[in-house]
Amino acid sequence: MSQFANVVLPLPLPQLFTYLVNPSEPVEIGMRVIVPFGRRKFYTAIIIEIHQTPPVHYDAKPIHTVLDEYPVINLLQLDFWKWMSDYYQCTLGDVFKAALPSGFKMASETHVFANPDFCETTPLTSNELTILGFVNSQKKTTISEIQKQLDKKEVFNTLFKLHHLGALSIEESIEESYKPKTVTGYYLGENFRTEETLKTVFDQLNRATKQLEILMLFISKVGFAKALEGKRILKSQLEEDAALSPAPLNELVKKQILVPYAHEIGRLNYEITQTIAPKALNDGQIKAMDEINTAFYNHQTVLLKGVTGSGKTEIYIHLIEQAIKEHKQVLYLLPEIALTTQITSRLKLHFGNRLGIYHSKYSDGERVEVWNDVLMKKNYQLILAVRSGIFLPFQNLGLIIVDEEHENSFKQYDPAPRYHARDSAIMLGHLHKANVLLASATPSVDSFYNAMQGKYTLVELNERYGGLEMPQILIANVREAKRKKQMKSHFTPLLIEQLTIALNAKEQVILFQNRRGFAPYVECGECAHIPKCQNCDVSMTYHKNKHLLNCHYCGYSLAFPNECPACGSPAMETRGFGTEKIEQELKLFFPEARIARMDLDTTRSKKAYETILFDFEQKKLDILVGTQMISKGLDFDNVSLVGILDAENTLNYPDFRSHERGFQLMSQVSGRAGRKHKQGTVVLQTTDPDHPVIQWVIQHNYHDFLKAQLEERELFKYPPFYRLIHITIKHRDEGRTDKASRNLALALGQIFGNRVLGPQPPLVARIQTLFIRQIMLKLERNASMIKTKQMIQHSIHALIAQPEYRSVIVQINVDPV
Ligand code: ADP
Ligand code: ZN
Ligand code: ZN
Repeated sequence: MSQFANVVLPLPLPQLFTYLVNPSEPVEIGMRVIVPFGRRKFYTAIIIEIHQTPPVHYDAKPIHTVLDEYPVINLLQLDFWKWMSDYYQCTLGDVFKAALPSGFKMASETHVFANPDFCETTPLTSNELTILGFVNSQKKTTISEIQKQLDKKEVFNTLFKLHHLGALSIEESIEESYKPKTVTGYYLGENFRTEETLKTVFDQLNRATKQLEILMLFISKVGFAKALEGKRILKSQLEEDAALSPAPLNELVKKQILVPYAHEIGRLNYEITQTIAPKALNDGQIKAMDEINTAFYNHQTVLLKGVTGSGKTEIYIHLIEQAIKEHKQVLYLLPEIALTTQITSRLKLHFGNRLGIYHSKYSDGERVEVWNDVLMKKNYQLILAVRSGIFLPFQNLGLIIVDEEHENSFKQYDPAPRYHARDSAIMLGHLHKANVLLASATPSVDSFYNAMQGKYTLVELNERYGGLEMPQILIANVREAKRKKQMKSHFTPLLIEQLTIALNAKEQVILFQNRRGFAPYVECGECAHIPKCQNCDVSMTYHKNKHLLNCHYCGYSLAFPNECPACGSPAMETRGFGTEKIEQELKLFFPEARIARMDLDTTRSKKAYETILFDFEQKKLDILVGTQMISKGLDFDNVSLVGILDAENTLNYPDFRSHERGFQLMSQVSGRAGRKHKQGTVVLQTTDPDHPVIQWVIQHNYHDFLKAQLEERELFKYPPFYRLIHITIKHRDEGRTDKASRNLALALGQIFGNRVLGPQPPLVARIQTLFIRQIMLKLERNASMIKTKQMIQHSIHALIAQPEYRSVIVQINVDPV
């Protein structure tokens, strides 16, 4: 009887597809296979079900290749994927695409590159050499191209093997600025690989004893026969006994007797020989630890609310240690890659080589390496990751820590699945029966409400470690200073005074402005014209050092106009201010100070980010100016002053979460002040000192902030009391966008009644040439997500089935943030 396999393809298709299993190549659920799909295309697919029922509407094609000998996805993961596709209303294919590193999902159109630093450690087969040779000759090619040119069908297996060996890299790695860590090694030059030629060399080197010694050393370490085959050896291996002197070594290299190469080392593998035990906890921390453990014992998720510097991280370290002792895996989630730098060195100290890191700044090869390590339960027992870490093939997960749980960047915005990693982590913990700890100094309203409802256990740490006081927050009234004409550009006298004190005392300063660029927009002084992006409905931001206007939504840029495009007057003026302008003005006021800026523009590469942080830590910088990037989890011990330049700017988004976000942002930025040695100072510049959120920030008053938020949210039917779903409609034609969205809202209204709001144009109603309308659904919390998904999908399908709306894009976002 024929066997069939239902597979998921990495495509946004609502259904699984059925293929015929080749009896000589048995498959299991969770294995990867290559299958033909559509016209002459091949994809990596994953087996989801195996059965004996042929498909009804088509003849099942046979599976082309079975890639794995054992499943690389486990059953728990598949359950998790299914949950995610139901809850976040996307296809299983969307989840598959998001979940696997690209090294695992080659398809016909995948780009392949040769890795110039590759050194072979095992001999390659002739098939492998042919393909590698072809790829080498092409610089960049696609898999279907290889198939065509070499007239080979069976290239996928070979490509996977070559990729696994590090000979190739694929697709996404091109854009990465991250350069793998390498060490030097040597092999014998091509022209010297026979006994005779080598003998001549020995004769010639007779008088150059140093060079001869090195060559002899090389041959003795590699072995004579192997040396003639071109075997490679690392410089460090040559130097096991004594360092090589550089001059004679260089001579050998110059003569091409020894050829150097760069050997890529798995950066996660460098040896840590000694680790230290976790620090002893103080009384408050011990109490918190006990409460956490009791809650875990009772299968409760814990929300740890601990002020910045209270030692939450030390507690995580103890919890991780516990879990590892029980041979469990641990997942430590952070909202952003930027934050992993500092915490990595702290965790390495305690967990050494058991720490694995997983995020997109690593090459796909390294991601595959971590994936396999977790799958086979080899080295890594603790994985530090950003949101995609929830997709790793854990089998024995004991603990998940979600640090800075309030951060929005846990939510994936685009493409689908638009999942929230914190909420998904709770589901993942549930599937694994693992403990889950959410932690923050300023918990999200949603999580705190869950704790109030008894869904989570609340544990608090209200004091900073070492008894340090919370920073003192001073208000600088911008409106008053302006009236008295005391402002120095964007600086109040109070901020200038505090800056002077801090700099004189050789203490460091952080200045926060949540806008990058020089000025958020420019305006004509004559006719008030504001240049806007040609693709989006937003004004262009001025970047002074490039002398450009730039759109922050689509990246479009223009030379700064010397005259007004509308009236021709030369009076173009900048309005408002961003980090670039603050940095420049500081240089005028404090010419002696060493200043750096940290925002999206200065940290395009991972290296740049690390350099700025490192310099700041090493006190090579006095002032760090930055956007929200500097607000999170960073721990510096010499920052005595934090300045918030424009407090309102964090509060004025027309969104029900704007006060929550503003409160968290300002509290978090303030928390950077005065760690370790002495109480810090925060200067908060505002035109509205009586604003309730600003008052709560000054008083460190989370309680009243929360109370007000909950009252408002209940009244207006927002989360955590209701569940929101945004449905976004996009099209190039405004009229069609309007009509399609009204039709859809009408159809949804027939099902969901007054739970449907809109359509409405969002704040930015056109992005990248597409017009945008939004429909909002406010659903009761206990509504079934599976039924909701069916009904929404049904309405959407009915809409785009009409020829007029076929090209309309409809996106669903469950629990938008
Ligand atoms: P949080 O994560 O809550 O911001 P941290 O864990 O970073 O706090 O702690 C703040 C500082 O206090 C760190 O430098 C940390 O090493 C130190 N610290 C916290 N707890 C202890 C402890 N029990 N023993 C020694 N140092 C501690
Ligand atoms: Zn004008
Ligand atoms: Zn734009």
